[in-house]
Amino acid sequence: MAALPAPLQRLVAELSRLPGIGEKSATRLAFFLLRSDAEHARALSDAIAALKSNLRLCSRCLAFTEQEPCALCDDPRRTDEMLCVVEDPSDTIAMERAGDFRGRYHVLHGTLAPLDGIGPEQLKVAELLARLREGRVREVILATNPTVEGEATALYLAKLIKPSGVKVTRIAHGLPMGGDVEYADGVTLSRALAGRREM
Ligand code: ZN
Repeated sequence: MAALPAPLQRLVAELSRLPGIGEKSATRLAFFLLRSDAEHARALSDAIAALKSNLRLCSRCLAFTEQEPCALCDDPRRTDEMLCVVEDPSDTIAMERAGDFRGRYHVLHGTLAPLDGIGPEQLKVAELLARLREGRVREVILATNPTVEGEATALYLAKLIKPSGVKVTRIAHGLPMGGDVEYADGVTLSRALAGRREM
């Protein structure tokens, strides 16, 4: 990469930090942008800048939103009695694609990973408990990914929530082990939700 001019090096370095983009792909993308017209490159950089300035976390579910509260939290046709707990904001979009969940969401923003120093305090667990204390939720559906960390997080939350008397369920493993809620197709997610079991 030393042979590249500094502005290209800088862009390649930034693009390489994106998930799934190695240095080779980053270099290809950087050259593509260099060759494309200035308008195109500016539109991309504006879109990235707008992402950070126009989106914030919904105060209820903690998903990203332009409006406060977000459209899902604000929808009067959804029930407050079911709360689906997911790892990442993008998981709510995947669940909505499945199309048959009519409750609310809560985004944890990660999973427990003690070895990486991620405990409950680093996740939105206190916010979850605060919502449960409001007393409207009858069932918490744990929809963390079927990975080791996702399972450990679900078990931790189940233990934490059950003494309050709220029903706790876990989505079924229509999802492949090690899979990811975000990338599951609608039918698989729909089955996983229908086959959830009590914890
Ligand atoms: Zn929300």
